[in-house]
Amino acid sequence: MYLLSLADSVRLRREYFGGIAFDTSTGTTVDVDKAAFNMLSIISINSAVSQEDLIKILRSTGLVSGKNSKAATKVIKRFLELGILRIKPHAVDGNDYSQTFGNDERLLKIPEFTKGWRFGNYLSAPETVHWAITFRCASNCPDCYAKRHLELFSCEMDTRDALRAVDTISEWGVFQLAIGGGEPLLRSDLKDITARASQNGLAVHITTGYDNLDLAIFQKLSGNIKCLQIGVKHDRLMAQPQAETAMLKRIVETSTGAGIQTGANLILSKSSIKNFEPLLDSLVRAGITRITLLRYKPPKDILRWKQENPSVEMMAEFETKLSSNKSSVFGRALLQIIARHHMSF
Ligand code: SF4
Repeated sequence: MYLLSLADSVRLRREYFGGIAFDTSTGTTVDVDKAAFNMLSIISINSAVSQEDLIKILRSTGLVSGKNSKAATKVIKRFLELGILRIKPHAVDGNDYSQTFGNDERLLKIPEFTKGWRFGNYLSAPETVHWAITFRCASNCPDCYAKRHLELFSCEMDTRDALRAVDTISEWGVFQLAIGGGEPLLRSDLKDITARASQNGLAVHITTGYDNLDLAIFQKLSGNIKCLQIGVKHDRLMAQPQAETAMLKRIVETSTGAGIQTGANLILSKSSIKNFEPLLDSLVRAGITRITLLRYKPPKDILRWKQENPSVEMMAEFETKLSSNKSSVFGRALLQIIARHHMSF
């Protein structure tokens, strides 16, 4: 017999339709209906439950009828495939769970929250909060949209307020905190802020423009941030591919060495779309395979916007090419398509 347990990195959040299971280590997000959410909750509060007992409990509480217990088995299988649930052989930690739970489902705890659901068809909190933590930045990228708003922000939160903001965001039940700017690495209190966010259970991402980067920063932030997103300067990467790729490679290696996953953001302007394959090739050579493609937002220079903003037709053509192209460089890069899973009985 084996036991089911919730993966340590998974957080559950109750919603009006059931709930969300979010894996902080992989970013996997699963929307679940009420029956599936209750099932996960039962597993969560009991640490480990056998599938047989789980089905008995679901039946006894009326959450599952004989008719849909097959569906429950399918849902369990899918949760296992997605890494939301783990199999825990009862011999592994020396405990014989079968004596505790296995033969008597009455000993299992039933969560209070199997009853009573939120009203309203809106989420209880955002899943991700994007935070422009500073507008300061020494770079001058031609496609920077943050510079367009510079006059609106003459000051930024001090450390005390920033930590309070992190606490508030966590109390709301937000899963991820994406810190950007400006250049967030210019904040001298970034270590404290990310440490607080991470202790509060948030998956923290940092986006950097990587100019004048002190690589020692990654050791300081190690353990606090899940992912470093590099805002690729595609003009520079096209103009001097060798030197820029070598610099990106150093960043990736140092960041990975500090236990931080690395990805890249690539803005979809006319130039980057036209040069997509060589750009992708350089990124892959630098060791970056998680690439997030971003819509081109208007920079401060409106002439530049007019010149570089791709037309609807160009975007449509690019999308078709992306989904059909199986060339080697595309194959080597994991172009991240944020897949959202839905699970119901
Ligand atoms: S590094 Fe980022 S914030 Fe700085 S100028 Fe470039 S795009 Fe703007």
